[in-house]
Amino acid sequence: MKHTTPAATVGVVGGGQLGRMLGEAAGPLGVEVVVSDPTPDCPAAPVVRDQVVGDFDDEAAIRELAERVDVLTYEIELADPDALARVSEETGTPVHPDPDTLRMIQDKLVQNRALEDAGVPVPAFRRVDDAADLRAAGEALGWPLMLKARRGGYDGRGNFPVESPDETAAAMERLGRPAVAEELVDFERELAVIGVQGDDEVRAFPVTETIQEEEILREMVSPARTDEAVRERAREVALEVLDVLEGRGVYGIELFEVREARGASDSASGERSDPRVDGGILVNEIAPRPHNSGHWTIEGARCSQFEQHVRAVLGWPLGAAERRSPTVTANVLGDVDEPREARLSGIEAVLRTPEASLHWYGKREVRPLRKMGHVTLVDDGDADVDADVDADVDSLLRRARELREGLTFR
Ligand code: ATP
Ligand code: MG
Repeated sequence: MKHTTPAATVGVVGGGQLGRMLGEAAGPLGVEVVVSDPTPDCPAAPVVRDQVVGDFDDEAAIRELAERVDVLTYEIELADPDALARVSEETGTPVHPDPDTLRMIQDKLVQNRALEDAGVPVPAFRRVDDAADLRAAGEALGWPLMLKARRGGYDGRGNFPVESPDETAAAMERLGRPAVAEELVDFERELAVIGVQGDDEVRAFPVTETIQEEEILREMVSPARTDEAVRERAREVALEVLDVLEGRGVYGIELFEVREARGASDSASGERSDPRVDGGILVNEIAPRPHNSGHWTIEGARCSQFEQHVRAVLGWPLGAAERRSPTVTANVLGDVDEPREARLSGIEAVLRTPEASLHWYGKREVRPLRKMGHVTLVDDGDADVDADVDADVDSLLRRARELREGLTFR
């Protein structure tokens, strides 16, 4: 197929920071973006062609968007798959990724089942509708358990560990909705792979280490500081996950590197105690969109996850997913106790650091732990070729954290 530019217009349901960074990536390609978002003048608005104001499940707004663009996509899981499918059918505007994939991912129970059915390694899990189910899950999987709302969780909200059968009634009351219980995975570290599905090709970015604190992503480290064998296995599992997903686009695939795996691979016996673990990688969850764990690719990879998503949904050839150099990204979260007007100070040190980049998401209000921006630090490239990459990455991480600690909304 022949492609030309100036090209097409991409419609994005959702106009948060991901929509904003999609807009920033689309411009140089000659691609325009229109977003739909309920908040007038949403974060994406200043960098895209236009915004349709409407909820993520407002079918009239999605139809208006579809009529103005060549392809529809979404940057938030709250997009309504039924409305997207109907609008696409009516208007003939394709949607990527496929609304069926979005529907599957929206429900953590359905997602775990789909992965398990495809032979992808996931934590052991059970459906939980009430306290009795939760007690039964604990008997089957062992305590403590991770209890997760099937729908609508984000940034760890809607997830918490349950320690014992005594806590089940209170836990279900607190969650207040259908859930899935998972074994509490004893992980060495968390990893993520950004996978890209194009017209007739797939790509996977190098494996990223993701550092969470209180279940919120704080920093991303690439390359992940783990064994090459683990990185290879993570990539292999990510490619298996892509096989389960319908439709073009970028997917964020969150993984656990299970702790026993290292012992198992070091042991002479060769037999793994738990074959389900299969190489030490389990899939936590998938995002059908660009993902926070891939923000480092803007400066750190040949083609960013955002440009890849634009290329993929248009059916264009994908870009190179190789890393340019070791890269660390630190999220800038709201360091306030109460919501207030957002004004970030302390940015001079970031601006004066040649290897650092500041990304501001354009949110007017800062709230406790809200994702407001990020700082990326790229290795300066003149490091000793014989130097230990892990040591370089440790120092990048330390410096990125220092720069981030200098930023405040207070
Ligand atoms: P996000 O935080 O990515 O927006 P989310 O709120 O839907 O997504 P998950 O990714 O399912 O939540 O879980 C958040 C964090 O909780 C994980 O990154 C991990 O640190 C921890 N976690 C989730 N499931 C498990 C598990 N089965 N065992 C141990 N820890 C877990
Ligand atoms: Mg997650």
